[in-house]
Amino acid sequence: MSSCLFCKIINGEIPAKIIYRDDDLIVIEDINPVAPVHFLLIPCKHIENSLDIAEEDAALMGRILRVAAKIAKEKNIAEDGFRIVTNTNEAAGQSVFHIHFHLLGGRDLQWPPG
Ligand code: AMP
Ligand code: ZN
Repeated sequence: MSSCLFCKIINGEIPAKIIYRDDDLIVIEDINPVAPVHFLLIPCKHIENSLDIAEEDAALMGRILRVAAKIAKEKNIAEDGFRIVTNTNEAAGQSVFHIHFHLLGGRDLQWPPG
């Protein structure tokens, strides 16, 4: 989608700190981190949010979780604990309408979230 921020990052039109990419997804550093470790896992396919995940996207969603776990291990937050979050629509704080998964760690995370 031409006007979408994350599509532009995926296409290389807007720079980002990319820590992983393959044919299906990209992982970048969040520009405004809220934890010592804060990455965004973003599928290359433009899906607005969790409400729009199709049956054909099931394997892609599974891959994203597996890559998140691999990165959590590599960044040494796996043993202490980490969180994977996808905000959906305004009340949850979604600000970019291209589905993405926050990978958060490196500090104690409160529950319930605010
Ligand atoms: P959400 O509010 O759940 O939609 O998450 C969007 C996230 O994208 C926020 O945590 C922002 O800090 C982050 N963000 C916005 N613009 C950029 C950018 N250009 N590069 C990296 N992260 C960004
Ligand atoms: Zn997009």
